Formats: sequence, C-alpha cells, structure tokens
Amino acid sequence: MLRFDDRVAIITGAGHGLGRSHALLLAERGAKVVVNDLGGALDGTGASTGPAAEVADLITKNGGQAVANADDVATPEGAHAIVQAAVDAFGKVDIVVNNAGILRDKSFGKMTVEEFDAVLAVHVRGSYLVSQAAYPLMKAAGYGRVVNTSSPAGLFGNFGQANYSTAKMGLVGLTKTLGIEGARNGIKANAIAPVAWTRMTEALLPAEFEAKFTPERVSALVAYLVHESCEVSGEVFTVGGGKVARVFVAEGPGWKSDDLTPEAIADNWGAVMTEQPYVLTAADSMKSML
Ligand code: NAD
Repeated sequence: MLRFDDRVAIITGAGHGLGRSHALLLAERGAKVVVNDLGGALDGTGASTGPAAEVADLITKNGGQAVANADDVATPEGAHAIVQAAVDAFGKVDIVVNNAGILRDKSFGKMTVEEFDAVLAVHVRGSYLVSQAAYPLMKAAGYGRVVNTSSPAGLFGNFGQANYSTAKMGLVGLTKTLGIEGARNGIKANAIAPVAWTRMTEALLPAEFEAKFTPERVSALVAYLVHESCEVSGEVFTVGGGKVARVFVAEGPGWKSDDLTPEAIADNWGAVMTEQPYVLTAADSMKSML
C-alpha cells in the first residue's frame, strides 16, 4: 500500500468535492493535512471557515491529523498563510495539491474582463502562489511533490469557458516548467485533468454519471502522483470514472523550406498537419527547425 506517514500535505479547495476527497485519502494513508478552503460559492463570491473546518474535523475524528485553513489561494498573503499553517502545525511541507477553483462561465463575446481575471486569479495565480510559497521549504528538504488541477476543458477547449480554458491550459505550462526547474531538488510536478461529480459539475453532467464519476476515482491518481515512489514529472493525465490516460503536447514532423511563403505553406498544408512522429520537448522542437 502506498503510505504517506510523516508526509505533510497542503490541499487547496479541500472543503468540497475533489479536494475533500484528496484530503481524506491522503490522511487515511498517514499524511498530515492542511485542509485549505475559502468556503465561497461556485463563482468565488463569499467566504466561510465552515467547509475547511468540517473536513479537518472529519479527518481528526477518523484518527488522522489535519488542520483547517480558510485563506484565499489567490493572494500572496493567503498563500503564505496556508504554507505557514503547515509549518506551524506540522513543521514542513512535502506535498502541495493545487485544487481550488471557481467558475464564471460566459460565451466569449459576452465575457467581462472581471470574469476573465477572477478565474485566472484562483486557478493560475493561486497555484503559482501556493507552490512558490512552499518551494523554498521543498528545495531545502530536497523533496517535494506538486499536483496542479487542469481540466479537459483547458486541454481541448469548451464552449462558454474561455477564462477557465485559458487558466487550465496555463496550468499545463506552469506544471511543465516547475517539473523542469524542480528536478535538481527532488521536486516533481504533474497535472491532472479530472472529471468527477461535484457541485461544479452536477448541473452539467448526466445524472447517471454520479455513481461512476466519483471524486475518489480521481484522488487515487493524485495519491499516486504525490507519493515518493512516483517517478514522472511535468506530465498531464486525464482521470475520471476509473480511467487514467497520459495527455501530451506534441509536434509533428511538419514541413520546412528556405523559401517559406504563404502560398508554399498553403501548397504543403497536408505535411504541416501531419501528426506522426511526435516532438515532445521545446529543445526537440528547436532542433527540428535547423
Ligand atoms: P468544488 O467547487 O466542489 O471545489 C472547489 C473548491 O475550491 C471549493 O470548495 C471552493 O470553496 C474552493 N475555492 C474556490 N476559490 C478558492 C480560493 N480562492 N481559495 C481557496 N479555496 C477556494 O469543485 P470541484 O469539482 O471539486 O473542483 C476542484 C478542482 O477540479 C477545480 O480546480 C476544478 O476546476 C477542477 N476540475 C473539476 C472537474 C470536475 O469534473 N469536477 C473537471 C475539471 C477540473
């Protein structure tokens, strides 16, 4: 069994849904958990200490160790307070699961700049801020595990979610670069793109999905990715309903010419669009252009 004894985990947005399930699973397997949740509505308005406290209490009642924290991941002060809560209660941070999220869906033409910024602030800035606040501790320890929460809506796009899709694809870039930079200090970062029945999706998914798409079926992958035995970093996985799959950003062989004109590109469009074989790194991409 993969255990987390003596590991300290911060789970953001753990008062409901996926984060709650991640927190319960890691605690059950021995981790000391900071249950963070701002406790607001689905659109990010409002705040309450209730949801984080409820989950932390449940963990404690079950014999585990947890503290509640209701700070906002999207502010530097909030992010530092979350990490400080881990240090104060448990002395260190080994694991950060950036899971907090909100929705402000609107079709592209109608979306306001406030709706765009609010969603990016929680998902992208929040993940960056909490990971960065924990980073010096992880570096000093020579160990760290980070999981960021992307979405199929970001990887593949989704109607009415320009803000959310931008944020969720942004997290792929954050994950890949943190994976590269963290490598020399034993820090691994990966991203998940989940599907689960939560308050975020219950109005969108068909009712028969509830039993199959449980949050627990996402948490199993999160637990694997934040375990010390996990060897991958900078990767992205879709996960839901019992299925896990690697998602990769890849580049085809393409087509090149020293006399690249718009017409030449149009004439060779088939080669530009070819999907095999794949280029998987920025360095390979550059080399293929030489
Ligand atoms: P949820 O609404 O149940 O959980 C999100 C939690 O984040 C809430 O408890 C909320 O209070 C908290 N939160 C929001 N803003 C916060 C902030 N600024 N600081 C701290 N906490 C904050 O929804 P969920 O489905 O469990 O979503 C969890 C994550 O998974 C989100 O990032 C979401 O975008 C992502 N996701 C979910 C699905 C799905 O199918 N449920 C699909 C793709 C991605």
